[in-house]
Amino acid sequence: MRAAVLQAVGDETVEVRDDVEVVGPGPGEVRVAIRATGVCHSDLSAMNGTIPQPTPAVLGHEGAGEVVAVGEGVGTIKLGDHVIVVWVPPCGTCRYCLGGQPNLCTQVMYSAGLTPRFVVGGSPAYGFAGTGTFAEEVVLPVQGVVAIDKDVPWEIASLLGCGVVTGVGAAINAAKVRPGSSVLVYGCGGVGMAVIQGARIAGAAEIVAVDRVEAKLDQARRFGATHAVVPERLGGPKDEITEGDGFDYAFEVIGRPETIRAAYDNVRRGGTAVVVGAGRAEETVELNAFELFYSEKTLKGTIYGSADVRTDFHRLLRLWKAGRLDLEGMISDRLDLSKINEAFAKMRAGEAIRQVIHFGGAA
Ligand code: NAD
Ligand code: ZN
Repeated sequence: MRAAVLQAVGDETVEVRDDVEVVGPGPGEVRVAIRATGVCHSDLSAMNGTIPQPTPAVLGHEGAGEVVAVGEGVGTIKLGDHVIVVWVPPCGTCRYCLGGQPNLCTQVMYSAGLTPRFVVGGSPAYGFAGTGTFAEEVVLPVQGVVAIDKDVPWEIASLLGCGVVTGVGAAINAAKVRPGSSVLVYGCGGVGMAVIQGARIAGAAEIVAVDRVEAKLDQARRFGATHAVVPERLGGPKDEITEGDGFDYAFEVIGRPETIRAAYDNVRRGGTAVVVGAGRAEETVELNAFELFYSEKTLKGTIYGSADVRTDFHRLLRLWKAGRLDLEGMISDRLDLSKINEAFAKMRAGEAIRQVIHFGGAA
């Protein structure tokens, strides 16, 4: 079957091959035929070493598809089910799962990530983040799929699997944006646009979008930003909305030390800065000891939208069905897997919202 393979960390391109095999499903696993998969910046971050990933690896982690084989002992998922792929599969029994933070469960995620589920040219290969959706088929632990209604288009379902749950969840689960508050969002890719939508759904009064790519600014307004500027012009809306004081919330959705620092600097005393972007372990963000106590700001991270995918995917789909969450508008390009390296080039230039790869031609 066809899949996009990263041979080694540091490679600038992936190899689209026809000779990739998938292993399983074994007990407790399912095999899914991927129908659509979004390209997320984290795929690029696996290539350049920002996010650790053993190689060779099939990239892709934001996907949806149909269950085509079910392993022994799988009771909840059936052949033919339509599912969203989950890259933090909740085990359901650890203290994080039982304590209402299943996005912090590592029980299944680590073992899935360290089990080679593909064979490439006769050698074992991993799936990125324990998934590997840039492939016609993937094998996943049963906790790594969530079944959805069959009338949801594949491309819509695929977006939920990472960018949308992460972004909307950052606003409504991690920050718990209060109605009437002021919000700043740094970085308007697929995840940033989802943060903007999450802040709008939560009832923010003002949402200021910041991106260095001018074309992103009008697009951000379409998703609910009340103001949209390049970084150099942030002072204007900041003065207008907050009298220079700073925003109630700021979201960093890029993964760079300087924009994390800028997000922290641009929240008011007592406000909350949320780091959504995935940065490198070697890079540090400096905070001085005085400002930490004096400003009484909250600086927090969020992974996978601080969500419970078992209920949040359905919550997000209901928002979409009610016309309150625009998912169609987030798809900037539809492409074939053979164009994956062009998709990465477009992402490096900051030009895409979400690029979605279709398998088998169906939407
Ligand atoms: P993307 O590449 O589509 O978008 C990034 C945007 O930031 C682009 O529009 C780009 O123009 C803009 N940008 C880059 N540098 C900038 C700067 N210095 N100032 C202003 N704008 C700048 O990325 P994405 O897919 O939306 O992902 C965003 C981040 O979120 C990545 O770091 C990704 O790895 C991370 N992520 C985190 C989680 C999580 O669980 N926390 C999940 C998914 C993705
Ligand atoms: Zn992602």
